[in-house]
Amino acid sequence: MKATIIDGKAVAASLRSQLKDQVAALKEQGVVPGLAVIIVGDDPASKVYVSNKEKACAEVGMYSEKYALPAQTTQEELLALVEKLNNKPNIHGILCQLPLPKHLDEKAVIEAISPKKDVDAFHAQNVGRIMIGDYKFLPCTPAGIMELIKATGIDITGKECVVVGRSNIVGKPMAMLLLHQNGTVTICHSRTKQLKEVCRRADILVVAIGKAKFITGDMIKNGAVVIDVGMNRDENGKFCGDVDFDSASEVAGYLTPVPGGVGPMTITMLLKNTLTAAAK
Ligand code: NDP
Repeated sequence: MKATIIDGKAVAASLRSQLKDQVAALKEQGVVPGLAVIIVGDDPASKVYVSNKEKACAEVGMYSEKYALPAQTTQEELLALVEKLNNKPNIHGILCQLPLPKHLDEKAVIEAISPKKDVDAFHAQNVGRIMIGDYKFLPCTPAGIMELIKATGIDITGKECVVVGRSNIVGKPMAMLLLHQNGTVTICHSRTKQLKEVCRRADILVVAIGKAKFITGDMIKNGAVVIDVGMNRDENGKFCGDVDFDSASEVAGYLTPVPGGVGPMTITMLLKNTLTAAAK
């Protein structure tokens, strides 16, 4: 194996320990950062994510509240809860776990969260702020990836950066953050022609498509930094990323594993955003 593995768990642990100290310092000034997490319905994966977020809050000394609502909750009931939390002084961050049941309007719920408490950074106002480079919160997954790239010691300035995937929560903001750091950025998607050739140009390749082991070693430039955002199951039901780890690790210079790469960073950045919200 050639690639240096980027240890997301270790980077996350070090950031969480810094956050713990910052939370303690804020508590001395009388403010305990508080996060409210809303979950609607019984999606098992969502339940695991929410419980991990609660645990992470407790670990760094933050306060959290969970609102587990039944699947048949109406749009009005959900919006009323968001409004109540918008006005609750001990709550600094509000997160509504997605996806919501089909009858609920996700966009309306996101837009109802006060931009000041929008610790996922999904509200249009916060998304716009990222575009102009004047932001309070960064979306958790791309922000976590920037920390992982930083941990390699590689300077993004002038590098060819390729982002595969253009979702609002990962691909698009990711491209913007790389651009802010002076990368030369290309965004690829399902209609991109000659994906392999474009990927092979990348000094920094970020893959967020949701297809198990889709990016193989022959699509990677020798020595590239490869960040695998995907969370999938392979043909044997084993947890895996969008990058074929075995072939990629023979070519890449740095590579994130799945699990243990991007995943641990996402929750860490949520904690960071909650602290930022509380500190204001
Ligand atoms: P979406 O499904 O919203 O977006 C997928 C993107 O991939 C789309 O832009 C799509 O293109 C593109 N795509 C799909 N197939 C191809 C293809 N064959 N070639 C090129 N591009 C393609 O996914 P998300 O961004 O929400 O998530 C991506 C992955 O990351 C998932 O596995 C998800 O579980 C994981 N994830 C992990 C997180 C973590 O914390 N580790 C956090 C968030 C997501 P088009 O727009 O043209 O359809």
